[in-house]
Amino acid sequence: MVRVITVKYPLKEAKAPEEYRGIPYIDPQRCIGCGACRNACPPNAITREIDLEKGIKRIVLDVGRCIRCGRCEEVCPSGAIKLTNVFEAASRQRENHVEIVELKLLRCSRCGKYTEFTERQVMLAFEILPREVLEVEALDKRIWLCRDCRREIALSDAVDKEWKWYYGKLVKSIWE
Ligand code: SF4
Ligand code: SF4
Repeated sequence: MVRVITVKYPLKEAKAPEEYRGIPYIDPQRCIGCGACRNACPPNAITREIDLEKGIKRIVLDVGRCIRCGRCEEVCPSGAIKLTNVFEAASRQRENHVEIVELKLLRCSRCGKYTEFTERQVMLAFEILPREVLEVEALDKRIWLCRDCRREIALSDAVDKEWKWYYGKLVKSIWE
């Protein structure tokens, strides 16, 4: 019996097995723009751009640099990036090697400046942070703020607290 083990690729279309590590793809509906994939990517195939003027964060995946290691898929908290079994990456156009996901940055609810976090990132954090160890009201007050406003409020709260403590001690010493 003669068994054919060669295929007529590229004359005929060939499909890689499901488990084949091919080109990664980011689902723009699921990506929250956290950048975990970028931090984990060994050859820097994923980069991040933040435009604080326009309020946009871009996650840029350059398939041409990707070594198909799968680290991005492992670390993605929202399951947005997955390796596909697509293996044909050749193209004459540079744009075909690059996927860009654009996300809206959160505006600070106090000063109105854009923060470096995306809206989706903060919404997800608000959803998943454990309510039993956090005061929801305090969290709701601070999570929508930029770093500068958070710092200012924390400082003024600390001064308030300190002042109340001294004032309490003073009143007590007068009455005792
Ligand atoms: S598969 Fe590896 S090299 Fe490719 S984008 Fe993901 S982390 Fe980077
Ligand atoms: S780790 Fe996932 S959610 Fe975060 S930026 Fe990368 S693809 Fe988007």
